Amino acid sequence: MITLPQLPFANTALAPIIESKTIDLHYGKHHQGYVNKLNELIKWTPFENSDLETIIASVDAWPIFNNAAQIRNHTFYRNSLRSALENNLPSDDFLRAIEQKRGSFDAFKQEFITKATNNFWSGRTWLAKTPHNELEIINTSNAGTPLRQETVIWNKDWIAYIPLFTIDVWEHAYYLDYQNRRPDYLTNIRSLINWSFAENNFSK
Ligand code: MN
Repeated sequence: MITLPQLPFANTALAPIIESKTIDLHYGKHHQGYVNKLNELIKWTPFENSDLETIIASVDAWPIFNNAAQIRNHTFYRNSLRSALENNLPSDDFLRAIEQKRGSFDAFKQEFITKATNNFWSGRTWLAKTPHNELEIINTSNAGTPLRQETVIWNKDWIAYIPLFTIDVWEHAYYLDYQNRRPDYLTNIRSLINWSFAENNFSK
């Protein structure tokens, strides 16, 4: 039995960048919906008592994979955010790592926003770490996660990424607040990035 993790902040904590009505829908309906659906799908299967990571890593049935990955992806997105900070920057060490790989922090921000804006699918844009400690910005579509190789085999360049943070660019993530203005959502969400979470993942 898979349960919906608690929201790590109040539903008003990200306002006005992401309003509570969006969180209520995204968390209370979409995220909960994937949990309900997955529990239906795994009943009477060998995955009935498995944890999410085991299911994502080993299931062959796409409906089960999609719902399990969406639960984990949404939890990861939630943990990637925190209340707005005016000058929201990584710690000095992590900032230097980003500057080293991307030229400057501004160049990194621009690259991330451009990549997320151009993510054609319903999907996510991730900052991730390669096994060689390189930082990469990658797009996934639908329920895709950098954790499972099938996702990136489609891109023909599979690497076992470690996700650092993710931004959900499915329309349901921003449509109530920004309608079709995805670039505005992406520009504003920069002050919500939970750099402590990202850095903690980077050091794993
Ligand atoms: Mn979503």
